[in-house]
Amino acid sequence: MATRKILLANDHIPGIQTYEVYRRQGGYRSVEKALKNMSPDDVVEEVKRSGLRGRGGAGFPTGMKWSFLAKPEGVPRYLLCNADESEPGTFKDRYLMERIPHLLVEGMICASYALGCRASYIYIRGEYKWIVKILERAIEEAYANGWLGENILGSGYSLDLYVAPGAGAYICGEETALIESLEGKRGNPRIKPPFPALKGLWDCPTVVNNVESICAVAPVINDGAEAYAAVGVGKSTGTKLISACGNINNPGVYEIELGLPVEEFIYSDEYCGGIKNGKQLKAVVPGGSSVPILPAQLILKTANGENRLLTYESLADGGFQSGSMLGSGGFIVYDEDQCIVRNTWNFSRFYHHESCGQCSPCREGTGWMEKVLHRLEHGHGRMQDVDLLVDIASKIEGNTICPLGDAAAWPVASAIRHFRDEFEWHVREPQLSQQRNYGLAGQTLATV
Ligand code: SF4
Repeated sequence: MATRKILLANDHIPGIQTYEVYRRQGGYRSVEKALKNMSPDDVVEEVKRSGLRGRGGAGFPTGMKWSFLAKPEGVPRYLLCNADESEPGTFKDRYLMERIPHLLVEGMICASYALGCRASYIYIRGEYKWIVKILERAIEEAYANGWLGENILGSGYSLDLYVAPGAGAYICGEETALIESLEGKRGNPRIKPPFPALKGLWDCPTVVNNVESICAVAPVINDGAEAYAAVGVGKSTGTKLISACGNINNPGVYEIELGLPVEEFIYSDEYCGGIKNGKQLKAVVPGGSSVPILPAQLILKTANGENRLLTYESLADGGFQSGSMLGSGGFIVYDEDQCIVRNTWNFSRFYHHESCGQCSPCREGTGWMEKVLHRLEHGHGRMQDVDLLVDIASKIEGNTICPLGDAAAWPVASAIRHFRDEFEWHVREPQLSQQRNYGLAGQTLATV
């Protein structure tokens, strides 16, 4: 399947980070088109018709999200770009911001115009310190060339754009935690409703969009909704950036046309280039650490025997029994030598550490899951621990304020669903599992 690049079409051009080169390649045309020829509602409609869906993980239609924004008279509205990319296995927004920062600035201007915002923010994770500088420079260049500030292109529309670095907490990628953090408070998720579209930043109507979603706005406006919607399959229109990592020959960030078969993505030299060292594929986490893991046979084919495609629908085919999610596009590949128990424990440690602690199922449950997985992984597990983990995960899922609870529960529940024998093997053969994972001969970690 030929790849049609949209966001990374100019990625290979030397100097594309700079304003001069970006502009020479047609940069900021979408702002000219929107401000001169389109009303804000026209821009919203165009994005709606393009079928663009949120690229941060939820996949909610972007134009529809924009149309929910409340517009009370005399109350400011805000657009916040979520650049708090912290999901293990996901590093595609980093690539976009590092390589083509002006694409994000251009998208922010068009989206802010559509939403009627006079001030917008790019909230970026604290660990991306060097990208803060890249973005600030791009914003300075945009101001200097009249794309930001007062009366842009003489249209009467004015916009200020700011970069706001966070302090480095995964939970600040949740939109209401992001808003709290931007207001200068601890990044605790809010109870919803009210939703940010009604009461967001400083209690004003607010839209929060992912970096990749906002970057897609400029090509949608430039080329038109139909051209964008013509790429992809069904309700998965356009392209998606996939960050591929793990036991593959070519880890990296790839822009794929939605609808690409997973098998082609893993084995083609154009993308992952196959499994490293000629090993067999064991499993894939297809959408960042929070989505269910799938064993090789289910990531390549659905339970009905159809080719699994990189689309929102195909990856979810079969529900959580035999499917997963496209999520953020963090594609983590495991070869036959990888220990699922060890990897599940690793994810659990992360979610326990990142839980904000507001709700008990998440605060306590993530801690218990980590503890039980630790003992299974380190040779002290009991057979009933496997069902205990399933039970804890089921009591977290759906019972928390924000999606971090589900994100912690799904990897554990899915790993046991598909690899229960491996968990039980750790109980039956504690010394062999230690040997395999840590190279210890006849000892458990507790004895060394
Ligand atoms: Fe905090 Fe976890 Fe509750 Fe989210 S689910 S609000 S991270 S305790």
